[in-house]
Amino acid sequence: MAERLADAQQKISAAAEKCDRANDDIKLIVVTKNHPTQLVFDLLDLGMRDFGENRDQEAAPKAAEVRAASTIEHHWHFIGQLQSNKVKSVVSYASSIHSLDRQSLLDALGKATIEREVPLDVFIQLNLTDDPGRGGIQPANLRPFAENVLTHPGLNLVGVMGVAALDNNLERDFGAIRAASESLRTLKPEASLISAGMSEDFETAIAFGATHLRIGSAITGKRQY
Ligand SMILES: *Cc1c(COP(=O)(O)O)cnc(C)c1O
Repeated sequence: MAERLADAQQKISAAAEKCDRANDDIKLIVVTKNHPTQLVFDLLDLGMRDFGENRDQEAAPKAAEVRAASTIEHHWHFIGQLQSNKVKSVVSYASSIHSLDRQSLLDALGKATIEREVPLDVFIQLNLTDDPGRGGIQPANLRPFAENVLTHPGLNLVGVMGVAALDNNLERDFGAIRAASESLRTLKPEASLISAGMSEDFETAIAFGATHLRIGSAITGKRQY
């Protein structure tokens, strides 16, 4: 895994340099879903501090196990579709939610974070397809939805998140994410983060301004369950 990680880091640096971006502006989140907790300990040993998970049932015990066994400061990023009845659990260990994708989830998150001293970082997940059945906020609805997010004192809107569609038109999809980010910044200039880019497409995502990469299998190897 050390070799795969070094290879990914080298590709990230090269992609950043190619478009004149600073490496420090790009955060690597290693997606550890469907791997045992030991993989997280190995990644901590390799210097990684940010981990992504997409199911509370798996993430909650994993986060607890790591917290109990390690004093190294680290962060959990929740990146999957989040059911409202799991919100209370997720906000207890996650330092950011990348998948705020609908009003009912916003209501639940707002309620669960109302007493927080440090607001919870949230990214609005975009739906880059014409299919309203897919999760996420249509770019056309981003600003009004973001205005709703801003009414919640326990939430800190940091940016947008997107997943490229399967038809592999990366320029179209990452371009749409970047345009949505620009639109959001006219409402809240500090909400400038872009969570985009996975194992197969992170170099293109970097060219389109991604600040938070969610990379799994390219670093962790095949998922085990
Ligand atoms: C699993 C997952 C990833 C990582 O995918 P890889 O192709 O393994 O890099 C990134 N983002 C989300 C939302 C995921 O569910």
